[in-house]
Amino acid sequence: MSEHKDHRDIGRKLDLFSFHEVAPGAPFWHHKGMVIFKELEKYIRELQDKNNYQEISTPIMVKKSLFEKSGHWEFFKQNMFNFDVENEIYSLKPMNCPESALVYQTKIRSYRDLPLRLAELGRLHRNELSGVLGGLFRVRQFTMDDAHIYCRQDQIKSEFTSILKMTEEFYKKLGLPVSYGLATRPEKAMGDKKLWDEAEIILKEALKDTGLKYQILKGEGAFYGPKIHFDIKDSLGRTWTLATAQLDFQIPERFELEYIDENGKPQRPAIIHRAIFGTFERFIGMLTEHFQGAFPLWLAPVQTVLIPVSEKQKEYAEKIYNQLKENGIRTEIYESGETLPKRIREAELQKIPYILVVGKKEEKNESINVRHKNKETEIKIEELIEKLKKEISEKK
Ligand SMILES: [Zn+2]
Repeated sequence: MSEHKDHRDIGRKLDLFSFHEVAPGAPFWHHKGMVIFKELEKYIRELQDKNNYQEISTPIMVKKSLFEKSGHWEFFKQNMFNFDVENEIYSLKPMNCPESALVYQTKIRSYRDLPLRLAELGRLHRNELSGVLGGLFRVRQFTMDDAHIYCRQDQIKSEFTSILKMTEEFYKKLGLPVSYGLATRPEKAMGDKKLWDEAEIILKEALKDTGLKYQILKGEGAFYGPKIHFDIKDSLGRTWTLATAQLDFQIPERFELEYIDENGKPQRPAIIHRAIFGTFERFIGMLTEHFQGAFPLWLAPVQTVLIPVSEKQKEYAEKIYNQLKENGIRTEIYESGETLPKRIREAELQKIPYILVVGKKEEKNESINVRHKNKETEIKIEELIEKLKKEISEKK
């Protein structure tokens, strides 16, 4: 067995995040952890922009009446944080859907306005028992890459196809193979059986059109609609269900959502709830273990480190440091307090992808000695910058 470290250990060693007794189930993100968080945020936003999503942000604290209307109060109350504010009960939202529906309702929507894709990187709270909390995998507070797509019946298939393509693109970049599952009608399902059957056929067709292999997960759908599971296999051979795309006919009913069709008649839209990687917390926890801290360049909190061989190259190292910074490359300098091998070792332990050593020879040649994946090369600074920028933008 190879030595596999828990994300909490790696997080501590690489200064990514920490956990404190005063906030069970909620991580404290350190600067380096936030770099990963923000890079993922940036990437998901890019994908969403490309696919014509609109981003919204809704309140974290809401009156319980909203959840009574959505049905969450009845079924999910025990998992919510509820408390008194001026003699009224408020809740911390456990999901974004009901508030997204309120945004939908602020306008009369026409069939031409659909699909309307409202994305929200919402911060959510769910009350898990403190005994089951653990690291980033079981948390009480988390951020989801959530979206709700309001669409006509005839748009469901193409919306699912588009979600599947986004998912493929996202995980391909990370080199994580995805397997798909179609979760069908459970025994205690709500709504019309005929509607369910039709919906399952549409989802099957979307999967078929995309050419993706999938399994049927019989009876594993939510009570309000069928869903597609995205399962990821990590480097340790573990399977993770990180995200789903879920069809829902219930919230549109409960909120009486409408759009006006070609004949001027009101119709109910369908909702697709979707997340590509689920929660930032669980996903970053998984990635940390999957890569064992050696993140790909675009995600690495520190992408390069400069190591001057002696005090004499300090100025030259600073010059390169500034050039890297100006080019948006995250970098640090390990000053010459410790021996050279010790500083190189430290950079390796910190899993910094590119270790840049500069000595007398490099200063003279205006070059850098690059250590990357156990290979050493001497290259010019401009060449290195171009190479790094390319690798970062391609998310290799
Ligand atoms: Zn939702």
